[in-house]
Amino acid sequence: MSTIGVLALQGDVREHAAAVERIGATPSRVRRLAELEAVDALIIPGGESTTIDKLLRAFELFEPLRDRIHAGMPVMGSCAGMIMLATDIVGAIDGQRSLAAIPMTVRRNAFGRQVDSSEVELAWIPDGSTMHATFIRAPWVESCDPSVEILATATGPDGAAHPVAVRHGNAIATSFHPEIAEPGAVHDDRVHRLLLDLV
Ligand code: GLN
Repeated sequence: MSTIGVLALQGDVREHAAAVERIGATPSRVRRLAELEAVDALIIPGGESTTIDKLLRAFELFEPLRDRIHAGMPVMGSCAGMIMLATDIVGAIDGQRSLAAIPMTVRRNAFGRQVDSSEVELAWIPDGSTMHATFIRAPWVESCDPSVEILATATGPDGAAHPVAVRHGNAIATSFHPEIAEPGAVHDDRVHRLLLDLV
């Protein structure tokens, strides 16, 4: 059985660990180097990217994590995790750095601070169906290399469509929170399954 780590420095770790269990893999919380080395793949949860960046450095995990990702470990980032996987960040503060896993520029808090959180029915390109998605102070992909596969777009306050789910090599990133379902609704684990497919 595959072990999928959830970076457990900050953010909604528990919800991702539950999704990993639902798809039949073993979740493992990652806070130390030895824990990082023991996983087959890693999820970087939503939370606050500036804090995750600072804690990665404080726990001496930034370089080891970047090196493992660049060596091919499958990785998925949601919201703040998407920001961490980008090469460039619009709206970066405090000299925040990212792991440069996907050749893309993301814009932090792109949907506007007044739109703190929203639920959107997205066209899910991989299977031609829809996906109910929860956005919380979400980024979008401002621009990306043509090699980046766009899995879904959402309309911004500017009326334009912006990528909100992408895949590139061993990395998947979503602006929204695939680990969250509406109360009483069945969880949609398709994004987590895409990660498992890469393992
Ligand atoms: N706005 C947050 C950031 O920049 C991300 C929000 C989230 O992960 N829900 O890190």
